[in-house]
Amino acid sequence: MPEASNGLSPFRRDAPDTAPPYPAAVFRKTTAVDWPGRIAAALFLPGCGLRCPWCQNRELVLPAASGLLLPPGMRSLESALAHLEKRRAVLGGVVISGGEPTAHPALPALIAALHEQGFPVKLDTNGMNPRVLAALFRDARARPDYIALDLKVAPERYGELAPGKTGQSDAGKRLTESARLIAGTDIQREYRSLALPDGAFGAADIAALAPLAAGGPWVFRRFVPGNCLDPAWNARGAAAELPELFAAAARKLGANGIAQSYTSPQRAGH
Ligand code: SF4
Repeated sequence: MPEASNGLSPFRRDAPDTAPPYPAAVFRKTTAVDWPGRIAAALFLPGCGLRCPWCQNRELVLPAASGLLLPPGMRSLESALAHLEKRRAVLGGVVISGGEPTAHPALPALIAALHEQGFPVKLDTNGMNPRVLAALFRDARARPDYIALDLKVAPERYGELAPGKTGQSDAGKRLTESARLIAGTDIQREYRSLALPDGAFGAADIAALAPLAAGGPWVFRRFVPGNCLDPAWNARGAAAELPELFAAAARKLGANGIAQSYTSPQRAGH
């Protein structure tokens, strides 16, 4: 790994004795769709505490013990960081996504290391770990420069997304708390929802989520089947106009609803 400007490895610098192991990550060297207005690289960390049936990232969400192959592009985080070091001059930032990045104890050190390398950092999160977000916001080195919060369904429905649809009964509260924490910062942000078909997302969800989407655009993207965590969802198709319909409904409630036409392949299911 190349030495950082202060002569130390980015990973050794922050917490040489206490930093947890870094997970392997899917590494996208260049992306124009994961950070609005920027050419960035993206790191997708494995693991997630939710099981959204429409999730397109099944290889990242389900543990390797399930027998699934790791997705293409999976590599050690150290090698990804070494590559980023070479591309510092041409990249406008690094997106950390998943899976759910806040599930990884090494996330604060990773963001700090990227900042030390000179990269602004965008964090994609499902909002299930408000304590982690609060800690990141308190730490100038680990504070993301942009944050995207997923708003999947109304908070009271988040139990539907828990593994086995049991437990995590406080998931909706965690989402609400994460949104409150984000709204209390000056970090540039966006909110994201999938325009789910067949009434899986609708007016009641938009009404419940609108108060959480404060201070940034609320982006509605089209659902695209193909690699869903629940294969039954692959038989579903979504009307192309759904994102605009939902965005219009959000705007009527005072939120900054936007329909997005493109979909990042790795984030298609979020
Ligand atoms: S869509 Fe996102 S939050 Fe839901 S299971 Fe997949 S990675 Fe986790």
